[in-house]
Amino acid sequence: MIQVEHLTKCYGDVMAVQDLSFEIDEGHVYGFLGPNGSGKSTTMNIITGCLSATEGRVLIDGHDIFEEPRQAKRLMGYLPEQPPLYLGESPVEYLTFVGRAKGLRGQELKEQVADVMAQTKIEHVGHRRISDLSKGYRQRVGIAQALLGNPKVIILDEPTVGLDPIQILEIRDLIRELGRTHTVIFSSHILSEVQAICDRILIIAHGRLMAFDCPENLERQMLRQNEITLTTQAGPDEVKEVLERLYHITEITFQQKEGGYTQTHFQTSHPQPYEMTRQLFWAFAENDVPLLEMTLKKASLEDVFLELTEAKEPDPQQEENEEVDEA
Ligand code: ADP
Ligand code: MG
Repeated sequence: MIQVEHLTKCYGDVMAVQDLSFEIDEGHVYGFLGPNGSGKSTTMNIITGCLSATEGRVLIDGHDIFEEPRQAKRLMGYLPEQPPLYLGESPVEYLTFVGRAKGLRGQELKEQVADVMAQTKIEHVGHRRISDLSKGYRQRVGIAQALLGNPKVIILDEPTVGLDPIQILEIRDLIRELGRTHTVIFSSHILSEVQAICDRILIIAHGRLMAFDCPENLERQMLRQNEITLTTQAGPDEVKEVLERLYHITEITFQQKEGGYTQTHFQTSHPQPYEMTRQLFWAFAENDVPLLEMTLKKASLEDVFLELTEAKEPDPQQEENEEVDEA
């Protein structure tokens, strides 16, 4: 549906996006996740034809966004980070205006405006001034205009930024609902939000794609990093003897505490962390070594996100190879 090939964007000597390649298939909700300044808006602006690329290509259903912008743009509805809403108008007036710009006329225009207002649940405010609407409702108007013209793909740039918690939940529900009838790509810098709504996650940092997978697989990648800490009154040798009978345990360290207590710390790669803790419980019980304390620190998608976005700083050497023509 959408192919992004080796996309690069430089603003002067700032590399906002570097050699980004990925493919979007129909029928999924994609979360475009990355910290502020990672290149999300730049990428979305290029995909939707609002911004030129320095290098690379974007195909929408086979249409090059730069060479066949009309055919390509018709397939996408876009809500930019700062949507150009006309505050003095009502949603009905504004949507009619946008619909016309998208080539709709007469009865079809009227029907589509009514349809998108129903989908985004703004019928009851259709004739108020946009300036009098809450931020949550303005965002719905923005999403409604993206839906006009029946595009296959809806692209939303940080649609929940600046909303209060209830509005955020409502917009998330709306995105989920749109996902049933459209391919949706939305960006966010909040991991839990992406996790809650989408079934494919693209993680971007420093303008580069760091990961692209379903949430379950991304989590699985990190499972080996579950950590367990135990406290017993038995010494390290005794604890070691018990642990040696179990699998999936690595990097064992002991710390002896006052009063004869031993704190044991290790990593486990067991795919089901609770199965691991259950086995530990019984193994220690069978050896008459009471477990006084056991804590499990489960790896989460948050860890994947932090690891991917914080670990790799951009390489300043790379920019020296770029030729900057501007004076
Ligand atoms: P995000 O949407 O993930 O917050 P952006 O795509 O807005 O990231 O920005 C990516 C990088 O490009 C940032 O370092 C930002 O400062 C820079 N940038 C964005 N727009 C411009 C611009 N018009 N001129 C110069 N630098 C820009
Ligand atoms: Mg942005």
